[in-house]
Amino acid sequence: MDIGEMTIGAYMEALRSKAPTPGGGGASAICGALGASLGAMVASLTLGKKKYAAVEDDVRRKKEELTGIADELLTLALLDEQAFAPLAAAYALPADTDAQKTEKAKAMESALLAACMPPLAMMDAAARALGALNFLAEKGSVLAVSDAAAGAALCGCALRAASLNVFINTKSMADREQAAQLNDRANALLAQPVRFADAICDGIKTELDTGGAPARALRGAPAAAAIAEAVKKETESLRAAGIAPSLRIIRAGEAEDDAAYEAGIRKRFAALGIGVTTAALPFDCLTQDVCAAVSAAAQDPSVHGILVMRPLPGSVDDAAVCAAMPPQKDVDGISRASEAAVYTGAQDAFAPCTALACVELLEAGGVALRGKNVAVIGRSPVVGRPLAQLLIRRDATVTVCHTKTADLRRVCRGADIVIAAAGRAKMIDKSYLSGAQTLIDVGIHADAGGGLCGDVDYESCERHAAAISPVPGGVGSVTTAVLARAVVQAARKANDR
Ligand code: NAD
Repeated sequence: MDIGEMTIGAYMEALRSKAPTPGGGGASAICGALGASLGAMVASLTLGKKKYAAVEDDVRRKKEELTGIADELLTLALLDEQAFAPLAAAYALPADTDAQKTEKAKAMESALLAACMPPLAMMDAAARALGALNFLAEKGSVLAVSDAAAGAALCGCALRAASLNVFINTKSMADREQAAQLNDRANALLAQPVRFADAICDGIKTELDTGGAPARALRGAPAAAAIAEAVKKETESLRAAGIAPSLRIIRAGEAEDDAAYEAGIRKRFAALGIGVTTAALPFDCLTQDVCAAVSAAAQDPSVHGILVMRPLPGSVDDAAVCAAMPPQKDVDGISRASEAAVYTGAQDAFAPCTALACVELLEAGGVALRGKNVAVIGRSPVVGRPLAQLLIRRDATVTVCHTKTADLRRVCRGADIVIAAAGRAKMIDKSYLSGAQTLIDVGIHADAGGGLCGDVDYESCERHAAAISPVPGGVGSVTTAVLARAVVQAARKANDR
């Protein structure tokens, strides 16, 4: 059958029939040929335009390359059909005697090997087409970018589909060594190029997608108010019993974000009737100075909770400070015992407030966690790591991402919930989103206009997510409420003993 001479209708008719050919292999090749031809079309639409004069020669070469690949794929569709005949003949060979069995096995083996070659070559051709399509998606006529992406999608499809024709043949091969080598070749052609195809499509989708309805603002106020109400009642009950719950803040230096956090704490705690004292140390203090401040607070019966502002200056050993923290006053969960409790789920310790605030914000906002894929960006002991544990305990499937995570965009796009705690202002834009996710923004940064911003570029993401926690007014407001709750709980426990 000369595929090039057939009408599309006739080919479909043949494909629909009971006949063994054309089948999946041929259809994969045609899919790739369509993708390559679409790429050539983008090149045609780009050529001769003044705006693209600088890339005219490259575009012409890409057009020739893609046209050649499309022809090559049509030939491979034919070769794939031809490879079926020896396979069918080998299957039909008799296997009554030992000699016949040997003969049949030999014929099968060689036919299976031959049948792997066209789909492998198709995969190779589709992968090459993707390179040219990527160039055209970036440099070709903007009027045809969607066609470049459609071409990439078709080539990605051809790669996936043709790989199955390799795997069906290698599965029956007696020579497992050879089968493994062929599978390795197919898997190698599958991994990178398919991701590449997805990246081209996602990139263009991001460019074209103007988004849907604005995301729901996941504000911290309702969660914080619910916690605060319970805390206020507990504080009144403690005060009635002659106990004045109190927090000691230990701060080294005068960093702006520490000052902003401390002011937020003081404001909330004043409203709740919880005392706050600060041990302010100079920025150039040493480990022993901070540890001494922790010990003094540990021994002071009027102090129920201790909060160390971190990160500490470089001159201070953070681990030594965490080790000096008494677990019963460790309201921000920095001691080893608190850390262990986050992992084991033990109830007798405090989890880091920010991590807990993220979970409480999601729960108060009605965002279910069970079975959901959550991408946590950041693996710090303060936020990312404990948060991952708290989410796992609520039956979420968690991916903890960091600076070495490969293709962070892809991980985020595949998640139901993205929690940004990277400490990079506005790094999460719409290219990290797939449309209906919940975004929790942990970051706090001073922005150019004198206000605050988070790790999420709100403007870019606003129409590409289902819900976003704002900065300010999101995680931060829940954090101080969670801290207040921990202080009154510590006060209650200290006096229950
Ligand atoms: P950190 O610097 O200790 O950790 C940042 C983490 O993000 C690291 O694990 C790093 O690997 C990862 N990361 C950095 N850049 C990345 C990138 N480009 N791609 C992927 N991963 C990347 O910071 P932290 O103490 O965990 O704080 C994170 C953010 O949260 C900061 O903006 C901080 O101000 C904020 N914060 C907010 C609250 C609150 O109550 N809202 C409390 C504490 C911290």
